[in-house]
Amino acid sequence: MNYDQFFTDAVDALRRERRYRTFADIERNAQRFPRATWHSPGGPREITVWCSNDYLGMGSHPDVVEAMRETALKRGAGAGGTRNISGNSHEIVLLERELADLHGKDAGLVFTSGYVSNETGISTIVKLIPDCVVISDELNHNSMIAGVRMGGRQKAIFRHNDLDHLEELLQAAGNRPKLIVFESVYSMDGDIAPIAAICDLAERYGAMTYLDEVHAVGMYGPRGAGVAERDGVMHRVDVIEGTLGKAFGVVGGYLTGSRVVMDAVRSYAPGFIFTTALPPAIAAAATASVRHLKHSTKEREGQRAQVAKVKAALAAAGLPQMDTPTHIIPIMVGDAKACKAACDVLLTEHSIYIQPINYPTVPRGTERLRITPTPFHDDKLIAQLAEALTDVWSRLDLPRVRDAGHERRTVAMGTAPIAMPIAGG
Ligand code: PLP
Repeated sequence: MNYDQFFTDAVDALRRERRYRTFADIERNAQRFPRATWHSPGGPREITVWCSNDYLGMGSHPDVVEAMRETALKRGAGAGGTRNISGNSHEIVLLERELADLHGKDAGLVFTSGYVSNETGISTIVKLIPDCVVISDELNHNSMIAGVRMGGRQKAIFRHNDLDHLEELLQAAGNRPKLIVFESVYSMDGDIAPIAAICDLAERYGAMTYLDEVHAVGMYGPRGAGVAERDGVMHRVDVIEGTLGKAFGVVGGYLTGSRVVMDAVRSYAPGFIFTTALPPAIAAAATASVRHLKHSTKEREGQRAQVAKVKAALAAAGLPQMDTPTHIIPIMVGDAKACKAACDVLLTEHSIYIQPINYPTVPRGTERLRITPTPFHDDKLIAQLAEALTDVWSRLDLPRVRDAGHERRTVAMGTAPIAMPIAGG
């Protein structure tokens, strides 16, 4: 039996469909974020990263790095095992308190990633609710879809942000227990859910709510708790999930909610029980980041200003950006090969790194570049970006301004088989 052939065939299939992914070999420069070194085939080169989810540059913040260094020196590099075996490190206890306070909830529960928190969190919650119907937005992230599937309950998918459809499904579920699963900021289209209106429906139909704020924590709301905080509805959402790996700049994921729900997830979730905990140094760094962003608005304001400038520069250049109310700026290309070619030219000739976003992260025909400006992308870098994109668009004869809004995704990134590589998020 030639086992290798199975894998070769699988990878070849991706190549044929132009979905084979390559990742640039990059060294981030903490002193000069968002500058980095690209280990190109011709040797090391300095580049600017325009697609990082370290949205506020907190991964390089001196307080965060120092908390990690200092804690690693005192506690060592690892956690020493699962929390079941080794107990809670004090740093995780402090982090969970900080997160519960951030979202105005009784308790928080930290996991090794946002992916794990969604997968094990959603599946455990729905398994613990007898006869539950899960009602899920069609564009939910792969980790949420994995959680819904793993939960094994009946599911109903509502059209993206469509309140009428959501209401129809809530009505159809009758008196059964219901969990509504949705995101605040959708990461590939950069649009926002009507959280208050979803809570209205949840209250009217007696549903529990689970909200993923992965692309919003740190960045929206007076203390950086996310869009639900900004909209004044945080207390109306039952479970808020987030990541420590994007705007907070570290790694890890979490849930916050009532004491009883958090205690039940802690007691039943395999993705919590059977895996080594986050190291204390990571937890301490995350706590430093969350604390900092509760009080400091400088990063959020700086980011907002630079996002507005990038949007204006791209509009002036006639580039087909999607109109978003968030920090996520997708530029539509509409073809996998052209999208990859555009990114290659940007990197090799303009020293600008933007990862192409192709199927299955987005539907075929809506391939795009996804730009995420941070407060550290200064005006000079923005001018360089606009110039470079203008050059690439002319050189490759890519489509210019059009109504990119109608090309919003119509399938969820997670509808692809689980084994497929997903670059987004
Ligand atoms: N939820 C959403 C909406 C995401 O885009 C991602 C992507 O990374 C995750 C969850 C997973 O979070 P993490 O990267 O911390 O695993």
